[in-house]
Amino acid sequence: MTTNINAAVPDNHFFGDVCKFFDHAATFTKHDAGLLDQIKSCNSVYRFRFPIRKGNGFEVIDAWRVEHSHHQSPTKGGIRYSEMVNEDEVMALAALMTYKCAIVNVPFGGAKGGIRINPKNYTVGELENITRRYTVELIKKNFIGPSIDVPAPDYGSGEREMSWIADTYATMNPGQLDAMGAVTGKPIALQGIAGRREATGRGVAIAIRECVSVGEDMLKLGLTAGISGKKVIVQGLGNVGYHSAKFLTEFGALIVGLCEFEGAIYNADGLDIEAVFQHRKATGSILGYPGAIEFKNSMEGLEQPCDILVPAALENQITIENITRIQAKIIAEGANGPTTPEAEAVFYQNGGLIIPDMYANAGGVTVSYFEWLKNLSHVAFGRMNRRFEENSNLNLVNMVEGITGVALNSAQRSSIIKGASELELVNSGLEDTMIRSYHEIRETFINTQGIDTLRTAAFVGAINKIAVSYQNLGVWP
Ligand code: NAD
Repeated sequence: MTTNINAAVPDNHFFGDVCKFFDHAATFTKHDAGLLDQIKSCNSVYRFRFPIRKGNGFEVIDAWRVEHSHHQSPTKGGIRYSEMVNEDEVMALAALMTYKCAIVNVPFGGAKGGIRINPKNYTVGELENITRRYTVELIKKNFIGPSIDVPAPDYGSGEREMSWIADTYATMNPGQLDAMGAVTGKPIALQGIAGRREATGRGVAIAIRECVSVGEDMLKLGLTAGISGKKVIVQGLGNVGYHSAKFLTEFGALIVGLCEFEGAIYNADGLDIEAVFQHRKATGSILGYPGAIEFKNSMEGLEQPCDILVPAALENQITIENITRIQAKIIAEGANGPTTPEAEAVFYQNGGLIIPDMYANAGGVTVSYFEWLKNLSHVAFGRMNRRFEENSNLNLVNMVEGITGVALNSAQRSSIIKGASELELVNSGLEDTMIRSYHEIRETFINTQGIDTLRTAAFVGAINKIAVSYQNLGVWP
């Protein structure tokens, strides 16, 4: 354990905020103080620097990989490409991954990586060099591998970067059968899995739909039950924000506001997310989108009238400074750490509800887990049983039609007969995970005396599960 590393981090930053949430939740458990300290601490923090060629010269890149908890192997977490990345942030994000995996019953410890660059300032070739060198540095220290530590995309990285990592790892480990399981979020052609790209946003949308489906909770917030017609503002139009907005629209919600770093747009009658996305692609900005009110200061966009606010960009967006101007009744945290502990307390005092990051955005790691399983089993989900299921279903339909004399039309027949595709199985597993986990957290919230927030309830559940792992390992009595 590396308590000295943790002690070196000031208490008032992102990791400090995560620890504050943890300490508060721990008061609702009965675990030994030493065990709680072990669960909370980052087990391994690897900071490194490496040079790359840039233009006619060289540049030295700062990078990190933090494995927060080894109570399960492998550890798992994305790699952030951002010029704001620092050690405290990577530690906080790694810790959140541990709790997130426990909440959704994914058998991984938490980890996170960071590369301090603004990807927009580098050519594709330079980004590839950086990513491959980063991977080599992890390999040198045994910080990556299908049974050790498995990276994934995060802010600023995606399928392209994951394929460079997979290729570098496989090249450096010739003959390792499970090499592709060393990283998830890969393109499907490189043994990725259907549905991973949109999984986090889909999970956020399911989490919101589940939350607003509980009538008695909505009554307390002064909202009607059900997702239909709920007005939503989304911050960040990247992977998580775009897909959250897309699936919320599909579920019947109305996206009324979108905030990006260049500004925000708002239309109480609803925005067409796909059209805004295309407008931004064509013009480089969401501003100028026809028919919307504009805010040059993007943060003003968060404060407009709506039922639900989905911060899906970065941490520390909702603070004590702006919380009283937020008009939403529900904040659903697509991003990691968007709300500070102080802001959360005020929001709840004012009658609001927060669906916490460690649950709300867990769809990504859930489907990453499915991808890892696919890589270890070397077979796509559905491949063995799809045709068998279709034949069985066909026999059943034929038999029922024969007995009843009722003939189904071709659409009805094919919807009953069809065996599940990989995407359908992935989406089913994701939906089941998000729905079950929400009710597990809510049960703790309702049934634990004195508990104040859904986040505390989520932490309590995670702490209890991780404590059991340590007890099962024989590390703690
Ligand atoms: P991304 O890079 O795809 O998108 C982030 C978007 O936020 C970009 O469009 C960026 O321009 C925008 N943005 C940046 N600063 C902003 C600001 N101040 N105001 C408004 N918009 C701003 O990143 P992502 O993968 O969507 O990740 C977003 C958040 O979700 C991060 O906190 C990340 O840790 C978290 N998350 C991501 C995943 C995943 O699978 N990608 C999984 C879990 C959690």
